[in-house]
Amino acid sequence: MEVNVKWFYICNDFRNEIQQTHKKIDKMIPRSELKKELMEAGIRPSVQRLAIYEFVKNNPIHPTADVVYDALRDELGSLSLTTVYNTLKLFVDAGLLQMLTIDDTFRCFDGDTSSHAHFRCDDCGRIVDFRIKNNFLAMVDGLNGFEIKEAQLYLKGLCPLCKNKK
Ligand SMILES: [Zn+2]
Ligand SMILES: [Zn+2]
Repeated sequence: MEVNVKWFYICNDFRNEIQQTHKKIDKMIPRSELKKELMEAGIRPSVQRLAIYEFVKNNPIHPTADVVYDALRDELGSLSLTTVYNTLKLFVDAGLLQMLTIDDTFRCFDGDTSSHAHFRCDDCGRIVDFRIKNNFLAMVDGLNGFEIKEAQLYLKGLCPLCKNKK
């Protein structure tokens, strides 16, 4: 298995992590391009929607709705957590984002809709993207005749930083 690790974090101190993440992104997707994506998906690009979409696309930290809300509520005074969650769901339903349900209490959002897998550290909570070079569905046994529409692979454990702290 070839693993291509990008350290995209989600944690309590997310502002700090976002700054670190930004240094690692080659280029931010311009707002005009994101606006076009929303319109092409049939979604009216209101100021709130565009800000939420822009945050998730340009902060590949797999944020939860709470993280998005905390980051944007100063900028968008009338925002509610419910609006953020519903807007994120709207984007997921339109295929613009993917929702990760790593466990039933934890839902986060990913602006990268390409096929990739996730590792979550049990200790610090960071979520790391990794790629599996070969199509792992080819290794699935016992689903002959089934049509697979979606596949998520979640691995959990300790990241190297947390492992070395122990
Ligand atoms: Zn960790
Ligand atoms: Zn991801």
